[in-house]
Amino acid sequence: MNVLLGLSASNGIGIGKAFVVPESEKRVISSKKIKAEDKPKQLERFERSLAKVTGQIASQLDAVKGDKVQSEIFETYFLMLNDPEFLGDVRKSFEASNHSIEYILNQKTEDYADRLRSSGNAYLSERAEDICDIFGRVLNDLLDFHPFDIEQVPDDAVIIAKSMAPSDTVILSKRRIAGIALTDGGVSSHVGILARNYGIPAVFDIENILDEIKTDALVIVDGTSGEVIESPDGVALSYYQNKITKAKEHADKLKVFRDKPAKSADGESFQLMANIGTVDEARVAMEEGADGIGLFRTEFLFMSEANHAMGAVHSKVAAFSEENQFNAYKRVLETMRGKPVTIRTLDAGGDKIISSLDVQHSSSEEKNPLMGLRAIRLTLANPSLLRTQLRALYRASVFGNLKIMIPLVTSVEQVEEVLAFAEKVRDELKSENIPFDENVPIGVMIETAAAAMISDCLAKVSDFFSIGTNDLTQYTIGVDRENALVAPLYDEFHLAVLRLLHKTIKAAEAEGIPVSVCGEMASRTESVMVLAGMGVRTLSMSPKLITSVKELLSKMSIDELKAISSKRLNSL
Ligand code: PEP
Ligand code: MG
Repeated sequence: MNVLLGLSASNGIGIGKAFVVPESEKRVISSKKIKAEDKPKQLERFERSLAKVTGQIASQLDAVKGDKVQSEIFETYFLMLNDPEFLGDVRKSFEASNHSIEYILNQKTEDYADRLRSSGNAYLSERAEDICDIFGRVLNDLLDFHPFDIEQVPDDAVIIAKSMAPSDTVILSKRRIAGIALTDGGVSSHVGILARNYGIPAVFDIENILDEIKTDALVIVDGTSGEVIESPDGVALSYYQNKITKAKEHADKLKVFRDKPAKSADGESFQLMANIGTVDEARVAMEEGADGIGLFRTEFLFMSEANHAMGAVHSKVAAFSEENQFNAYKRVLETMRGKPVTIRTLDAGGDKIISSLDVQHSSSEEKNPLMGLRAIRLTLANPSLLRTQLRALYRASVFGNLKIMIPLVTSVEQVEEVLAFAEKVRDELKSENIPFDENVPIGVMIETAAAAMISDCLAKVSDFFSIGTNDLTQYTIGVDRENALVAPLYDEFHLAVLRLLHKTIKAAEAEGIPVSVCGEMASRTESVMVLAGMGVRTLSMSPKLITSVKELLSKMSIDELKAISSKRLNSL
């Protein structure tokens, strides 16, 4: 038995077999020269790999018969694999050089993709990713390289990894995962948020976990205490099994709160909303008694669609289409049956890189992506993304009670730009005779010190505020929320953060616009009390935490809550 200590990231206890995620590897292509006599053999291997991948695509094409979108993708791949011009060029260049076939194929693929990307034609630049994908498969086969696919994680496993990329976390909604234990990770990281959303116990910041735990070892993850126990003995195992039973009993008791309105002990009403990242979570929000959706993180929808909708083949074409987005938003609005649904425009960039997004710049080229082209900055720089999303949102607006929210706002001008953009989209829909709700409120997220400091000005151009305390804390203190090395500095109760919160709440009150909190502070016991004491009446959180926050509020009077927050605000 081996006990490892880390940081509690998502409460609860999970027991399961370890699945150790290997560190991500890159395809390595040697630039070493080859001998002339090796050429025929290399060419033979190339033809074999080409034929093998062609065969795989042919059978995938067969499997998706009847699905127009997927068939088109595989047909394109098929054509590329048989493109006489490209293949002729590869063969000719190989004959003329003394580099390996892998080296030449990689070089030609990149050259070709670059030419497509710089063609200025949207359709052709999309083909650039396709050509990299398909000839990437031929290269993998040639090199006998098998990249890790997160889809391999089995049900009931405990995931042991260095870190998880936001795009990997999609797996969490698709499998029954018993627990997560990572070397990296901050409590407010996206993998942390999603683990709490799905009720998966998680411990982060565990040193050497990859050396200590092997795949298939039995592991207990105690997300509440931050302990991970490898190969537990009988006593430990029954102790934790007993704890799981007790936790289930407590969760059953909390169920009575599902149908009760959220109220303080002295009868003040609260709205407890859900944060979701996928369409299916809207159903969970309803089951847990949410008063609405306070935050739909649409980038997770984009990531899951981009990575998985097409099976093994990546294609952004269908994933980001207006039609796909419209259907997703419509389903969430319908599921929520008239309850408010706040959908945030794409918050990509920074730590949430959507590799298949065809955007002006990609975060991988930025030195400091969290300070770079992310969220509203990214969509304003790539207006076609914003236009498609706004069209889909407005079209869906007739199916429920929609609000649109803009992430990472730092200036009044950005809001005005989005408002003008939204007006243009509404005009377009009108001229196409497409029905939509003219009065969808458009609000902003307060996630930077800049936004909080000018919240009085922003309140004049916004229909509502939602405070994103995760980023507000990160940017105010200047501490990366994902970085375990500086995790002790990430303090949501830092007086600077509390003062900015207070300022924002007062600015919203003065302008008479609603203000809510949708960062992680909205669900943690101590911070819920502080926020409620400051006057916040709408809190948005992981659906699974709604009943416990209702229970907490039901035990406190407003005076008690006020006393707690003023103690914090006057703490220095
Ligand atoms: C936040 O920053 O608090 C927030 C809710 O947005 P996200 O966690 O998606 O960055
Ligand atoms: Mg944020």
